[in-house]
Amino acid sequence: MGKVLVIGCGGVAGVAIQKCAQNDTVFNEICIASRTVSKCDALKAKIEAEGKSKSVITTRKVNADNVQELVALIRDVQPDVVLNLALPYQDLTIMDACLEAGVDYVDSANYEPEDTEDPEWRAIYERRCKELGFTAYFDYSWQWAYQERYKKAGITALLGTGFDPGVTSVFSAYALKHYFDEIHTIDILDCNGGDHGYPFATNFNPEINLREVSANGSYWEDGHWVETRPMEIKREYTFEGVGEKDMYLLHHEEIESLAKNIPGVKRIRFFMTFGQSYLTHMKCLENVGMLRTDPVMYEGKEIVPIQFLRALLPDPASLGPRTVGKTNIGCIFTGIKDGRERSLKIYNVCDHQECYREVGSQAISYTTGVPAMIGTMMVMSGLWKKPGVFNVEDFDPDPYMDALNKWGLPWVVDENPVLVP
Ligand code: NDP
Repeated sequence: MGKVLVIGCGGVAGVAIQKCAQNDTVFNEICIASRTVSKCDALKAKIEAEGKSKSVITTRKVNADNVQELVALIRDVQPDVVLNLALPYQDLTIMDACLEAGVDYVDSANYEPEDTEDPEWRAIYERRCKELGFTAYFDYSWQWAYQERYKKAGITALLGTGFDPGVTSVFSAYALKHYFDEIHTIDILDCNGGDHGYPFATNFNPEINLREVSANGSYWEDGHWVETRPMEIKREYTFEGVGEKDMYLLHHEEIESLAKNIPGVKRIRFFMTFGQSYLTHMKCLENVGMLRTDPVMYEGKEIVPIQFLRALLPDPASLGPRTVGKTNIGCIFTGIKDGRERSLKIYNVCDHQECYREVGSQAISYTTGVPAMIGTMMVMSGLWKKPGVFNVEDFDPDPYMDALNKWGLPWVVDENPVLVP
């Protein structure tokens, strides 16, 4: 069918690219590009050595902070779609390049600046904090602002096709289409019951992960944001396949898009499970300044503490062989159908070791990389293609839900779920 250019070759991209290669009747050609071309070459060699895929794989070097470098690469490679699996810092430069080159764009996380002390960005951010009422560094306004330009150029941007955001947003669209006339509440529950045996490690990019988890929490209620202190709201929940876990309310990006796209929704919350050891380590690192994102001088050289910490922590890609247990991620909905109240849970259970056997990664990269491939397939096949900038819940969820079952993330519908107080 076509050619995809994937920017990034880290934990998530590693899975997405292997799934594209499995799906070789759709992804005839795959070009992998990042700053470290040797990593892209190693992945290409791994897939080719397995000898199962007919996809033609090439690799390129690119610095995705540089729009003109990206435009030159896109013009040369001529992909049908660019799949951005670099970091949220590169979202806008890659969107700019796709606009200039006239190619569809797909990603898995919304824009966040690398330097949150940049005065120009900070002025806009502080205004937004006051206007919208949440203080997270990331929000959709930057990417939604491309709507008219993408429309005019006749190209599609599909935002946030990972698991959360991504699958959780598609679950919401599916629940609304098939089970509810009105959805009143959505609780998104992200449980990782995996154990990697390290005292402290993050399951995806540590810088992005620690920034997210150490920030204030927030939820959407009755048309506005309610902000909480970090980890202020705690609940216990028993997850199928995992057992009972403590979970904490976090701010999360799909709350913002679902509040806009699910008509009449009254409350949306996001909870993630954490063990006490993870929280104690994180608090300590934060207290000593290791989560700072601004440069500090050390022996005559500028270093960014959170980036230095990243160099010390285990590479998330290396957790695969040692992580055992399961993830359980999904959504609980309440609302009305045919005049009667109802509740519903849709979720997926994923086993870390099964993921490792299939693609050499743990389940966090797997549960993000598979939906990244599926979203790209939706755009490339034309099923989810219209000019403009869209979140995944803007499209018909059915083909995506079918693809989840087919490509490794089967889901379960529970019509009598335990609700979260
Ligand atoms: P990694 O840190 O493992 O990988 C990031 C990749 O981006 C690396 O291959 C790196 O390669 C590349 N990269 C970074 N900067 C640049 C640049 N300037 N130019 C070109 N390439 C660059 O991250 P993950 O794989 O863990 O995460 C990838 C994305 O997935 C992130 O945006 C993350 O937020 C998102 N995510 C989404 C989830 C969801 O459920 N929606 C869940 C988990 C993650 P190199 O250094 O060689 O350039």
